[in-house]
Amino acid sequence: MGIVVDPDARFNSTAPIIVIGAGGAGAIAALAASSGGANVLVLERDAAPSGATACSSGMVPAAGTAEQTERGVVDSPQRFADDIQAKANGAADAPLVEALTHASAQVLEWLTRQYRIRFELVEGVAPGHSLSRMHALADRGGATLLSSLYSALGTQGVRLETNARVTDLVVDGAQKILGVRYKRNGSVETMGCATLILACNGFAGNRELVTQYLPDVRGLPFAGHDGSQGDALSWGAALGAKLADIDGFLAHGAVVMSLRLPLPWSLMTEGAVQVNRDGERFINEHEGYSESALFVLAQPDALAYMIYDERVHEIGLTMPNYANAVSSRVIKRAATLRDLADQIGVYRDGLEGTIGLVNALAFEDAADEFGRQFRATQMLLGPYYGVPVTGALLGTEGGLAIDAAGRVLRENGSAFANLFAAGGAARGVSGDAAGGYLEGNGLLTAVVGGYLAGKAAAAQVRS
Ligand SMILES: Cc1cc2nc3c(=O)[nH]c(=O)nc-3n(C[C@H](O)[C@H](O)[C@H](O)COP(=O)(O)OP(=O)(O)OC[C@H]3O[C@@H](n4cnc5c(N)ncnc54)[C@H](O)[C@@H]3O)c2cc1C
Repeated sequence: MGIVVDPDARFNSTAPIIVIGAGGAGAIAALAASSGGANVLVLERDAAPSGATACSSGMVPAAGTAEQTERGVVDSPQRFADDIQAKANGAADAPLVEALTHASAQVLEWLTRQYRIRFELVEGVAPGHSLSRMHALADRGGATLLSSLYSALGTQGVRLETNARVTDLVVDGAQKILGVRYKRNGSVETMGCATLILACNGFAGNRELVTQYLPDVRGLPFAGHDGSQGDALSWGAALGAKLADIDGFLAHGAVVMSLRLPLPWSLMTEGAVQVNRDGERFINEHEGYSESALFVLAQPDALAYMIYDERVHEIGLTMPNYANAVSSRVIKRAATLRDLADQIGVYRDGLEGTIGLVNALAFEDAADEFGRQFRATQMLLGPYYGVPVTGALLGTEGGLAIDAAGRVLRENGSAFANLFAAGGAARGVSGDAAGGYLEGNGLLTAVVGGYLAGKAAAAQVRS
């Protein structure tokens, strides 16, 4: 990944706006720019684009939506911002949080009105949010969200070139972006542009960069999208962009590694618990799923086991990730805890003792030593279900510093003339420490951040 300084560069062709990456951020940035009147080309390295967006649960947090109002949920951008900052210990970039929370409802309404991409309010309250705020398409899947966005790109007439990995940015002597070089079907092509949007996610899939910037999580296996190679970070660093919140990350403490599949954390809020090989619990499973990954890593063999019952299983079946795990036969079921323990390789007496204690706490609506509140309605009763899981890294939350419109910033705070970033390519709103990730922060920055960057890029091209 390089920067080529060539004020006299000539290009095979030109496009007013180039977007690098066709995940959620890139697709929405392209839609917003195009609906703002600009001609846009999206370049995507994969032959069949998916990105981390297609791996996600597709749940986008938004405050003050019509769907919330219909269900009597009274929310506001300020309340949403407060929840984000509470999780990030006040360390999330305030202007960015304000911009994203204020635009969140408007972006979902725009997608519905303009492209018939209809969101529903997801039942229940996600951990760390103070009320129901997650919105998803009917099938609750990131892949469907992305394919709906691709249909909208088609309707809008936006060009998407796949198999096109951008390798170099071409700049003039004043760091203005003139265009890009990319590899397509074995040959090197060039494309000039007036404005460039980086939407090529973070660096979680690049071992070297993870070791350099996130040494504390280098022990976690990677279960994200392989396109997260840190290309935006490398270009930005070479140009002298400011890197922000670089210690922030998104991990998950219940990943079926053979399938690279994170199980829905809402199973925990519905009553599931996590034990180690000895059958002992080790965390409050109602805290965030991201920070739980490091606790799982510290268990014997770096493994944990999710334990729950038929009621929780039935709820899980409504969610695509869980249903996939069931059809892949990794979930075990048994009439008794002892049989389940044998099937999944957990110490029988330990498991029986732990679930006995969990049910005693639930019976009394009491909290445990980790601070988890149990409820009588969530006692775990046979038949039981169990599945071995591990902690894994899914993404990075640090990246290029941007302003509220997605303009990439230099170390001294000034903005590059015509360079934008959104989604995982830019800093997120999780602050700079483990545990700052609030559920939905990833798609918030991709979906809403992509929109803001696309709008601002179109305005720049028009002017
Ligand atoms: C398994 C999993 C589950 C998740 N679950 C959730 C969730 O429930 N809620 C949530 O909010 N977030 C979740 N996330 C995080 C969320 O998916 C991401 O934060 C978000 O999708 C990032 O969007 P993006 O567009 O920035 O990146 P992506 O969707 O990854 O898109 C980036 C695209 O850029 C392409 N690209 C990279 N480099 C180049 C290059 N040089 N040239 C051309 N193309 C390039 C990639 O191939 C990729 O298609 C999850 C992530 C994973 C991996």
